[in-house]
Amino acid sequence: MTAPVARVSSHLLLVEDEESLALTLSDRLEAEGYVVEHCIDGESALTLLESQPIDVMILDLMLPGIDGFEVCRELRQRGLRLPVLMLTARSEVVDKVVGLKLGADDYLTKPFEMAELLARLEALLRRTTKGQTGSQLYDFGDLRVDFRRAEITREGEPVSLSSMEFRLLQEFIEHRGEVLSREHLLDEVWGYEATPYSRTVDVHVASLRQKLEPTPSHPRFIITVHRRGYRFDG
Ligand code: CA
Repeated sequence: MTAPVARVSSHLLLVEDEESLALTLSDRLEAEGYVVEHCIDGESALTLLESQPIDVMILDLMLPGIDGFEVCRELRQRGLRLPVLMLTARSEVVDKVVGLKLGADDYLTKPFEMAELLARLEALLRRTTKGQTGSQLYDFGDLRVDFRRAEITREGEPVSLSSMEFRLLQEFIEHRGEVLSREHLLDEVWGYEATPYSRTVDVHVASLRQKLEPTPSHPRFIITVHRRGYRFDG
């Protein structure tokens, strides 16, 4: 299974009070395809985390008001499990053990190479996706998929999917825009050797369309590609 990091744009929260650094980072991260929110202190970061779906956070240690450690401790206490990459200045003595106990996932010491930061972020997101521990959200149409909770909502109202329907949808999202054969889907989603004429996939696709498509008879998201399989365009 391919990690969806490059396909689903990740929402990133940057908490950094140093204006020029924040600007440089935001520009570069946006160029890399991240959707970037920026806060200059810990309190506003915690407020924003309550209302916005954030996949990964870059958190400066020394901030006005509460520091990065405190922000980390607080967000873990609230049950938020998104990965946190903490930034520290070289002069700051950081007790990594304390930091990890409080819930940071990785550290980077300033000044750092942008390539290093991007690599660390990608690694954190990949780990999150594999372990399904962080918040992973994907929006299409008027629907929102929360991979961590294995939930889907339409304008806030839950849409009930079976676990196989959910896994099938997840596979589609991870391979958005690609044609997936029935064999591929059986293999990845159901995990057994496909019998070439199995109707399992078609039955589940039909039921996903019923639940997700505005007009199931004229699908907009899960497209049939004649003789080849299906393509997700959401
Ligand atoms: Ca700072």
